[in-house]
Amino acid sequence: MAEKKLSIEEMAVFCKKKGLVFPSGEIYGGLSGFFDFGPNCVEIRNNIKKEWWKFHVQEREDIVGIDGSIITNPRVWEASGHVKNFTDVYVKCKKCKKPNKIDKSEIGKVRCECGGEYEVIGDLNLMFKTNIGPVEGSTAYLRPETAQLIFANFKLVAESSRLKLPFGIAQVGKAFRNEISPRDFLFRCREFEQMEIEYFVHPENSKKCPFIKDALKHEMNILSAEMQKKEKNPQKMTVEQALKKKIIGTEWLAYWLVTEYNWFISLGATPDNFRIRQHLKDELAHYSSDCWDLEYNFPFGWKELEGIADRSDFDLKQHINHSKKDLSIFDQETNKKIVPYVAAEPSLGVERSFLVFMFDAYNDDKKRGNIVLKLDPKIAPIKAGIFPLIGKPELEKLAKEIHANLKKYFNVSYDRSGSIGRRYARADETGTPCCITVDFDSLKDKSVTIRDRDTTKQVRIKIDKLRDILRKLIDGEIKFINI
Ligand SMILES: [Zn+2]
Repeated sequence: MAEKKLSIEEMAVFCKKKGLVFPSGEIYGGLSGFFDFGPNCVEIRNNIKKEWWKFHVQEREDIVGIDGSIITNPRVWEASGHVKNFTDVYVKCKKCKKPNKIDKSEIGKVRCECGGEYEVIGDLNLMFKTNIGPVEGSTAYLRPETAQLIFANFKLVAESSRLKLPFGIAQVGKAFRNEISPRDFLFRCREFEQMEIEYFVHPENSKKCPFIKDALKHEMNILSAEMQKKEKNPQKMTVEQALKKKIIGTEWLAYWLVTEYNWFISLGATPDNFRIRQHLKDELAHYSSDCWDLEYNFPFGWKELEGIADRSDFDLKQHINHSKKDLSIFDQETNKKIVPYVAAEPSLGVERSFLVFMFDAYNDDKKRGNIVLKLDPKIAPIKAGIFPLIGKPELEKLAKEIHANLKKYFNVSYDRSGSIGRRYARADETGTPCCITVDFDSLKDKSVTIRDRDTTKQVRIKIDKLRDILRKLIDGEIKFINI
């Protein structure tokens, strides 16, 4: 689309105006890096999480889910290295006094956006601390990621679920990071929600992925470490070519990059807004042999949407050493006890996913004179709006009956105020895929007019067919033009 892209600030204004996202506790001035979500945003977020869970857990045979606590035994964070190493260098601009965080390698090399030099204040651990019980000194932490409880519970889950390698454990939940400079609206917050998977494989067979066949022909926009060093543009190539040229190190990473990309595309995201970028050597953790980001073309540039790292057996070994518990599992094929490798750790934020779907759905329709939020019906907060054409009791009665009936199955709304055009516009801005209008003919022919959000096309259908047609439209079984 040639249309100018919405800025992140404009998106924040739109989200506030539509009651989707507010600064947290705004009546007291808000709190930087924290947000509250309004009614329709809760629906969108729940839909994102539901679709992620369905795609990554319920539809697969090799992945199960857990839900760990937000505060856990602090030794988990000692073992993981977070207590010691989860720090940023805290700096302050000598000129404009704005605080920021930089990487250790950037000290003396980078400057503030105003051009000023940075003064190093010190290291800051990004974990939020709290106390347990009335005694000071019993320090605990709000979890900075969901991943570690997957490792800590690894053996319990693997054995009770009778999992055989390769398998994954997934978790969706809140995480907290005391960011020095939260910014770009929901992109970098202090409280956020993660959707993560740790995918475990046999250590002696950590490179071969049994599912790779379906991903091979897939074309991706690829930016390797080599291309970045030579300041080259990303290249379009198939996964097969990228593996053959050893650009992507393992089949597992390739498979997960394609899988994650496909999840976004299956929910209506725009393919051209995605690329994959390999981490440079100095970005890699010491235990990681390769790491890629699925990046999205945000209005403030290409940024990490989802990191997918090869973590070897680092985390499990750390927990074995610190807990002194045997976390190895029995491998039936080799009759040996093994500590699996993490071949990939797809880690995605609900907030960043929300931004992707919102940016790709946002359309300023000049002809209609309103915003049309073209969200996939699965993500859309309200699936249908039900309107009586005019405020006559007999029309309202039938419209309310239809509303009450559909409400049992879908999140639908009833709207009787303002002109029908105004109600269509409101529904468009909420991303409601269908509007159902009850008119005087409906009383006789037991039919209603259903209007498509994206094309404004209208068709007449029987009231008793509504539920089935709505379900098929939401599931993507049919398109509006085929009704
Ligand atoms: Zn400055």
